Amino acid sequence: MAKTSNRDSYKKILSSLQTHNKWFENSIPLIASENIPSPAVKEALLSDFGNRYAEGWPGERVYAGCIYIDEVEFECMALAKKLFKAEFADVRPISGVVANLAIYSAFTNPGDIMIAPSIPAGGHISHGKKEHSGTAGLVHGLDVEFYPFDAEEMTIDVDKTKDKIEELKKAGRLPKMAMFGGSLFLFPHPVKELADFMKSHNIYINYDAAHVAGLIAGGRFQDPLREGADSMTMSTHKTLFGPQGGLVLASAQYGEAIKKATFPGLTSSHHIHHMAAKAITFTEALEFGKDYAKQVIKNAKILAEALSENGFKVLGERRGFTESHQIAVNVLDYSDGGKVEADLEKANIIVNRQLIPGDIKAGRNYFHPGGIRLGVAEITRLGMKGSEMKEIASFIKKIVIDKKDPKKMISTIKKFRKDYQKVHYCFDNKLGAYEYVKLR
Ligand SMILES: *Cc1c(COP(=O)(O)O)cnc(C)c1O
Repeated sequence: MAKTSNRDSYKKILSSLQTHNKWFENSIPLIASENIPSPAVKEALLSDFGNRYAEGWPGERVYAGCIYIDEVEFECMALAKKLFKAEFADVRPISGVVANLAIYSAFTNPGDIMIAPSIPAGGHISHGKKEHSGTAGLVHGLDVEFYPFDAEEMTIDVDKTKDKIEELKKAGRLPKMAMFGGSLFLFPHPVKELADFMKSHNIYINYDAAHVAGLIAGGRFQDPLREGADSMTMSTHKTLFGPQGGLVLASAQYGEAIKKATFPGLTSSHHIHHMAAKAITFTEALEFGKDYAKQVIKNAKILAEALSENGFKVLGERRGFTESHQIAVNVLDYSDGGKVEADLEKANIIVNRQLIPGDIKAGRNYFHPGGIRLGVAEITRLGMKGSEMKEIASFIKKIVIDKKDPKKMISTIKKFRKDYQKVHYCFDNKLGAYEYVKLR
């Protein structure tokens, strides 16, 4: 066997990076948790901030060298508060999971009970039980109960949730925290409808906006901090089109506890280049976020309707399929979510398989679930609108329903993709969305 030199490995890695960019340039990216950041965000990620430490709070750092970092971080916090109309912002959590952990650490103790959505009902693994290696259970020792879920309405059942909490209370298991928000997230959660009830039982309310933060910022989904949530956690890279990262927002009274949980509790370096990139994202969201959120939701509805017209079983039909950036499709008539995901990938259409309500009871698992999930956040940022949504639905139909060879679709999709190579809803877009930047 030929020996691989270090230089060969080095070249191979760099070449994979380049090939990946090229692939995405020619693909239809429909992963609901992904987006494409602006050239300015990429510039911040390349800056020297990425090589520095700035432990602590701006103005109270542990090391010198933080003059400009502090400038940017103060601005970043102010922009986050303005964008989400929040009293307190901690911009340091390095991801959505770390943001959730900051809230668990600040407001619960191991052994406490949290009520959250189950995974087939849209919950995220960071809300999950210990036996599923969920962050809440495994890392913070929370005992997780699931909300009763209405699969027809595709949301949390308000009356049954009240009954469940009364029952838990009788059994001496009253939750300490209620988690709203999720990963399969088509319609707003009933925060307003449940907040008074939760408060009357002293239950702390967090809303996990990882998926829908950009829609909330654009005023198009729900407004959890006005509806009764005590805090809101999120990722900064899904519908909020920034760098990978996290953010916590809260009423002022919770600020001190959250600050300590983030540092020294959960971070040492908070990835300062990502913090700067978040600040840039907030300026873009303040300037372009309303138009973006409106177009995202419009696109999602059009794609959902077109898929339904093409014969697909799209979830949430009774309510108009979706009010977010997501669409969930039951594909069991054709095969399963795993097979459909793989077939579409061969045609450069990137989606993810998805557990949907009823899967676990029917014995289906994460590898072969009943559904797929599609998101339009990234294709909207590339400037696509209604007619492109209809074309995408017809591509998906050809592969999944008509069983056309996916490889034979690649050239059509490449051609379709050619006109959407710039990032929209940002101040500057000289660099192509997937243009590879070579610095060597
Ligand atoms: C994606 C997601 C997260 C995790 O975010 P990361 O930034 O990947 O850590 C947390 N909660 C929900 C609901 C999510 O969908």
